[in-house]
Order: sequence, then C-alpha cells, then structure tokens
Amino acid sequence: PEREIYPSLERPTIKFKDVGGMEKVKEEIEMKIIHPLQHPELYKAYGKQVGGGILMYGPPGCGKTLLARATAGQVNASFLSVGINDILDMWIGNSEKNLHQVFELARAQAPCVLFFDEVDALGASRTDMRKSGGRHLINQFLSELDGVEHSNEGVLILAATNTPWNMDSAFRRPGRFDRIVFVTPPDQAAKEAILEVLLHGKPSQKLNLEAIAKKAKDFSGADLKAIVDVAIELKLRESMKKGQPLPIEQNDLLKALDQVKPSTKEWFTTAR
Ligand code: ATP
Repeated sequence: PEREIYPSLERPTIKFKDVGGMEKVKEEIEMKIIHPLQHPELYKAYGKQVGGGILMYGPPGCGKTLLARATAGQVNASFLSVGINDILDMWIGNSEKNLHQVFELARAQAPCVLFFDEVDALGASRTDMRKSGGRHLINQFLSELDGVEHSNEGVLILAATNTPWNMDSAFRRPGRFDRIVFVTPPDQAAKEAILEVLLHGKPSQKLNLEAIAKKAKDFSGADLKAIVDVAIELKLRESMKKGQPLPIEQNDLLKALDQVKPSTKEWFTTAR
C-alpha cells in the first residue's frame, strides 16, 4: 500500500524573543540563513557562498524545534517540519518520493524554513536502514540538499538530532549541513530567560526567577516548562475554588520544582 506523508505546514507567529537563551545558536542562524535571505547582494559582493543548512544537536528538550519554528516566525516564512522516522516508516521505495515531495512543497512555499527532526535516523551504519534501501534515501536527501534538480532558493534548512555521531559524514560537506551547532542545556542566564518567556503574560506576583533557576540544576527548557505547567495547575485548582485567577507565587514554583526531575544529565552520560 502507498502511504503519503503529511508534513505539518504552518506560519509561526513566535519569534526569537519567544525563545529563552540560545544566543549563540540564534547568531549562527542569523549569519548563515537569515542574513543571506535578507541581504543576498551583500553576500554576493564578498563571493560568500549561500545555501546549505545548520544541524543542531544536543540533549532533548533544549529548544531545537522551538528555535526552528521561531526562525520561520522571525522572517515571516512558512514552516515545514518533518520527522525523518515518519519518512522512513513509509512503504519501502516510497520514502524517496515522499522526501522529494517535502522539498518540492518547501520550494513552492518559499520563503520557507524546512526543519528535519531525528536526522540521525539517516545513519549509514544503521542496519535497518541498509536493509530497507536506506542508501537510496540518503542519496536522494543529498541531491535534494544540493538542489540538483530544483534550486533551494528561499528554502532555509535546519535539522536536529540527539545523536549526531550516527549521521553519514556526506551530510556534513560544504553546501549541506556544513554548520553544526551544539545546543547546550540552558545556563543560569538562559534558565532565567526561559522562565521569563514561559511566565510572560500570566497572572503572577513578583517572582524571584534567579532563585528558581539556581535550584533547577541540569534542567532543560522542556523541564522548566514542566515546572511552570505544574505551578499553573496548582494555581488553577485554587483559582477554581475562588472563581478568579490567583497570581502565581514563588512558593508555587518551589513546590513544582520538587515534582519535576531534571533530564539533561542522562544524555551526557549515556548518549554515546
Ligand atoms: P527534542 O530533541 O526532544 O526534539 P528539542 O530540543 O527540539 O527536543 P523543543 O521541542 O524545542 O526541544 O522543546 C520542548 C519544549 O520546551 C518547547 O516547546 C518549549 O515549551 C520548552 N522550551 C525548550 N527550550 C526552550 C527555550 N529556550 N525557551 C523557551 N521554551 C523552551
């Protein structure tokens, strides 16, 4: 049976300011894919090659997907997100066609941020990949990236993985994923910024986010989101009784902190 994939196409309204921290990664994205889109003549003047994508890697939940969406929002581009495992799950032989369709859709929607998640699934060493004719898919991917058949002008390519070492090295050649950035767990300043973003616009008392961030050792952005979600749930229950939205208090965040376990340490000790 033939299965078609339905990549999610959207027009994000979030921007870089809605992503806490990640300053270094934001700068890389600006230099490598946003500025070339906005000032092609400058890049041409210096003979600087444009094109190619950025590969982000690091522990889960640290904002890779979020930042990719925000990149689209930042430049008013559409956003097409594709999980490589979804493509691989397709009936054998169909996955190349599907991949081609994804690129064609992105080209038709340009300017478009085309985001590939779980790209480690394209590892040449994976036996199930070899069995299922994965080499063909890799070659298809490489020629789509190179824009052999159709130009990728206006298509901004980002990818993410938790395990970059599994990827075929052909992906890292110039014009492909020639920029690789490590998305670290948030540091103190980034944690404060993330909490700030997550609590923005919510009813709250004056909060000491610095203190919360200090206690949140080894927490990812997603873990911090879990803290805020738990705190909001606690507050919602109370608010329901009172029939009005009560402000989130420092103590709600502290209670929530006790209920959420940090997740990033595991990646550093077991990922490889
Ligand atoms: P995975 O490897 O699991 O796909 P990821 O790095 O792509 O993880 P995201 O999906 O972007 O992580 O993050 C999960 C959620 O955590 C986000 O939707 C957001 O709510 C929150 N989050 C993570 N990082 C940040 C950040 N820097 N600023 C604000 N929110 C964040």
